[in-house]
Amino acid sequence: MVGTLTGDEFKALIDTLSTLVSDHANELTALDSAIGDGDHGHNMKRGFEALMAEGDAISAKPLGEALKAAGMKLVMTVGGASGPLFGTLLMTLGKEIGDNPDRAALNTAFRKAVDSVAARGKSEKGQKTMLDVLYPMADALDLGSGAADISAVAASAAEATVPVLATRGRASFLGERSIGHMDPGARSVALLTAAVVEFMEKRG
Ligand code: ADP
Ligand code: MG
Repeated sequence: MVGTLTGDEFKALIDTLSTLVSDHANELTALDSAIGDGDHGHNMKRGFEALMAEGDAISAKPLGEALKAAGMKLVMTVGGASGPLFGTLLMTLGKEIGDNPDRAALNTAFRKAVDSVAARGKSEKGQKTMLDVLYPMADALDLGSGAADISAVAASAAEATVPVLATRGRASFLGERSIGHMDPGARSVALLTAAVVEFMEKRG
């Protein structure tokens, strides 16, 4: 999200992400059925549909305010543990990023946003949650990685949650039985990242 998206582009991005989440809702729910309560795909679909329904109003705002509004919408509509966490990510990003960020501003804002998720979730990297993807992404941004690399980092970080023992979130209730499955929230972050990167690359 380096450079300013027009309102129309921001709205198109919301539509793209909502369609993506709908298309992958069953997959996300299957992952959550294995190590959680099987609602993650449904939760995300409901939230992103609600976001899309407000696409016009949200996209009329400057970038920072748009991200904050999107985050608030997700808090209110996704539910579960992941709703407040995705919401916190976007709200902090919106608060920190400014309306026309350069790469340095993006990097700083993204790390603050990830830290705010950790604070909200009382969690840290290595516990088999979305943070296991978000922190490697923040590191890749700091290293100056390009968009495609960040997408690849997110995908492999999600994959790397498979052998991890869950020690936070619902999956931690399963103890050793959480091993051998990908974390659903980690998969969501990787999916969304790939779509944002693809959108930004097409836009040039
Ligand atoms: P719930 O667990 O309440 O059913 P979801 O199924 O929508 O909520 O989301 C589960 C995902 O949320 C997990 O896969 C994990 O990535 C993330 N998550 C859960 N608890 C935490 C936490 N404390 N910190 C970070 N991420 C978490
Ligand atoms: Mg769940």
